[in-house]
Parts: sequence; structure tokens; C-alpha cells
Amino acid sequence: MAVTSPPSSPGALPGALPGAYLDRMPKVDLHCHLIGTVRASTFAELARREGLALPAEPERVFADINSLPPDPALYRDTRIPVPQGPSEGEPDVSYSLFQASEWVVEVLRDADDLTRITYEAFEDAHRSGTRHLELFFDAVPPHLASLGYAGSVEAYAEGIRLAERDFGMTGRMIQGIDRSRSGEHALALVQQVVDAPNEYVAGIGLDNLETKGPPERFVDAYRLAGAAGLGRTAHSSEHAPTAVNTITCLDQLGCDRIDHGYYVLEDDDVVARMRDEQVAFTVVSTTSRRSWRPWRRASIAAMLEAGLNVVPASDDPGMFPTSLAAEYRIVSEQIGADADQVRAMARAGVEASWLPAGEKAALRARVDAELAALDAEFGVAPRGAGVGVGL
Ligand SMILES: [Zn+2]
Repeated sequence: MAVTSPPSSPGALPGALPGAYLDRMPKVDLHCHLIGTVRASTFAELARREGLALPAEPERVFADINSLPPDPALYRDTRIPVPQGPSEGEPDVSYSLFQASEWVVEVLRDADDLTRITYEAFEDAHRSGTRHLELFFDAVPPHLASLGYAGSVEAYAEGIRLAERDFGMTGRMIQGIDRSRSGEHALALVQQVVDAPNEYVAGIGLDNLETKGPPERFVDAYRLAGAAGLGRTAHSSEHAPTAVNTITCLDQLGCDRIDHGYYVLEDDDVVARMRDEQVAFTVVSTTSRRSWRPWRRASIAAMLEAGLNVVPASDDPGMFPTSLAAEYRIVSEQIGADADQVRAMARAGVEASWLPAGEKAALRARVDAELAALDAEFGVAPRGAGVGVGL
């Protein structure tokens, strides 16, 4: 049955769900970096408090984030063209996402700051209709070494507990592994996670520039995480224009989901396998390299067309900026995902989450009930309504 309510965004593709539906629908965000969630206003406040020397006002720095590609020559022959030149409206002076992230880390002073930014990440996610959020956190920086791993994680956990109380959400943390560093460094990080278990730390993930650290470097760290029952994910086929890294992540690292994954499209056999296995890809339409956004969106469209299991995510929402609700609007209104595909994404997020079985079942029931209520309110029925819906 066709969508009967008009979409609220001008220029939305026909068949898109109404904007208000997309904003309110229950969502799960599995790919979001804590440091990347920090609001410009919070960064500005903390940067002034700490007297951080910056090349411009902190609000200006955040407004002008625009990363450069690792090496433009890598992307000349990809199946989906990657724009090489600058896009319209790029700032005269750009700051990379990684540089901005370093500045944010520098102004975090103590456990209270860690709790605050975690709580604010959930507060902002709540405005997007996010019901469950899994947040990447990084290794403890040297200036916070006195907190240690356990102290830092407890500060994050306190932020999540407050958010669970105030927003009715659930949350978990993911130990991010900086792939530009060594396999030994990664192994030591995972050993910390294993030695000091925390109910809110559910797994590990590889991040930073894919071209700086191939996944096979981290086999030992991932093996240890797997033996300890931790969830495993990795940024893959994002910067390296090849599908092979995703195969390595699945077969050698034992990943149970993949972050990004656009360049699996370079290999038809890999695409077929990803479709058959319904591997979950957390995809993000907005990126800190502004000129790459059309390529990202075309890639996600092609992944959907190929029947892959894509789950929208917000990645670094404070810095791009974006939100999970905005990402759902893009996949519906600009990329062309139909109502059933969008609902399937929300449900796929539940299934790919790292919640224990009981909590996952509760989240599944909540998402199903809320989707059914929205369908009734907006008069949009799933295809084959009555078959399998809400079961
Ligand atoms: Zn990411």
C-alpha cells in the first residue's frame, strides 16, 4: 500500500515515509564515536575552561571540519565514482575529523567530563528516537592516566546509567582500537577489557584510517576478544577501495558486523556472500570529507539494491554534523529506501546489537510495538500487512 501522508521534506523521493514518522520511529545506533558526539557548544565551553590554544574560535573549528582523503589516487577507478574535487561551500581553512577529535580529548579533565559527554551523547540520540546506543570509546589518553581503564569505563557507565534513567534508553560501550597503532597495542587494550569486565562494555571495534592499519594486524587481539565472549566489529572497506578487508574481518577477526563496508561493491562474489549471510553493515550517509557524500549515498543505494543488510548510523554526529534521525531521512528521502526497507533497518539494528538475549528481546518487542503504532497513526501499512508483522 502506498504511503498516504505527504513527505515533509521538500524534494523527497516519491514513496518516502513522512518526515515526522522517520524522526519519531524507534532506532538503534550501533556505530557512533563518543568523542565525535561532543557538541560544538560543549567543546567551546571546555576549550575555554582549559585555555586550549586553537587556530580559530572553537565554534569556527567545529563548523569547518572537512577531512582530506588519504590519497585521492586510490579512488580513480572505483565502480561508484568518488568525486575528486572540492564540493560547493567547502571552508577556506579545513580541520580534519582526527585533528578536531584530538582537541576534544585534550580538554577532557576528569571523570565528570567523561560522564557528561556520555550523558549528552544519549540525550542527543534520544532526540533522534534512538532507543539503544552503542558508543565507541578510545584508549585512555596520557593526561587521564590516573583514572586508568577501569576508572574511565566507570565514568562512561555512570553517564549511561543516568541516561537510562532519564531517557528510557539502553546503552553499551565499544572499546575502539586505533588501527594506526600496532597489533601489540591492540592486544594490550583487549587484555584490559577482559581483565576488568564491565557490564556496559560489550565489545571491540577497529577504527581510524583503514589505509593505516590492515585488519590482519589485529588477529591476536580479536581472538582474545572472541574467547572472552566480546562482540567484534571493524571499520572496513571504507577508505581502502577493496572488498578483501571485509572478508578478512569476517573470516580472520570473527567480526559479527561491519562498520561502513561500501567497497564490498568492488567484488560481485563478496556482494553475493554478504547478501546470502545478511551481514549487517552500519552505514553513514554523511562523512567529514564533504565532497564524498554523494559517493557515500550512491554506495548505500547500491548496497540496498543488492539486498545487503544496511543499518543507518550517525558515526560522528557532533562533528559532521548529523543525527540518526537525519541519516534515516537521507536513506528514505534521498537514497530512496521504501517504507518496508526503512522498517527493516530499524529491526536489523536490534538484531545486530550486542545486548544480552533478554534485553534484546525486550528491545525487539518495543520497536515492533512502536512501529505498529506509528503505522496506524500515519496510515502506512507494511507490504503483506498481517504476515509476520509484530511477531
Ligand atoms: Zn566510525
